[in-house]
Amino acid sequence: MELYNPIIEKVNGLLGSSTPKKYAYNPSKTWEDVGGNQLIMMKESAYELGGDNKPAVNYAAISSGDYVTEDEICVYGKDLTEINGSVPFARIVLVKVDSLNGEGEEDTEPLFRAIQDIDFVKYHVYPKGYMIRSSSDSFREQVRVSKEAVKKGISFEQVGNSYIKKYKENPNILAVRVIFVTTDDADYAEMKKDAKKIRDITKTLSKILEGMATDCHSCSLKEICDEVEGLKELHFGKEKKEFKG
Ligand code: SF4
Repeated sequence: MELYNPIIEKVNGLLGSSTPKKYAYNPSKTWEDVGGNQLIMMKESAYELGGDNKPAVNYAAISSGDYVTEDEICVYGKDLTEINGSVPFARIVLVKVDSLNGEGEEDTEPLFRAIQDIDFVKYHVYPKGYMIRSSSDSFREQVRVSKEAVKKGISFEQVGNSYIKKYKENPNILAVRVIFVTTDDADYAEMKKDAKKIRDITKTLSKILEGMATDCHSCSLKEICDEVEGLKELHFGKEKKEFKG
């Protein structure tokens, strides 16, 4: 599962110059989850991550390589109790998955299922007092944080633990790094480009799985397949397999 590796390899260079705080995963240190969507009114809000049109990027990238070997949370910039106004924001998740190879070849179907499972988590973590608003079109993830949550000491460590706990319900997921960024000097514009590229790769996988035509010259996905190593091999590998039965 190497399609996203070039994006993963870039991540460290986009996070700004601050020294990160790192926390090992601890399932007993999650933040309370309300189990569903919540509404935090403006008057109850302490601030917004990505508020006032500041950057707010989110993406998750998976690999079976050894980029992430342990579950951990990394925080670049101020933590949730240290922020007192709108700040730029990114949440990047790097996931190590079990090898998804079938019979010596990468198999599209388990790969796509793993990606969907990872996407599922994004919409199923509801930390109390931490209202997430996502837009898949603009790759934004903006968060309104309540005054009460700040008063109670909410932290990225606890929110990160909540995410990792949810990811670890999936046995194919071997390790997760959740990276929170609130510094001014991170490269949010480049992160947004990578979020788009990840979306394009996933869309292409979905089309390949649907059994679309195999003429690259007339295919609307040619641009992304030319750019991302491994997509063409995946498509034609699948065709070959189906042909063989
Ligand atoms: S490999 Fe060729 S036919 Fe298949 S999705 Fe990519 S460009 Fe289209």
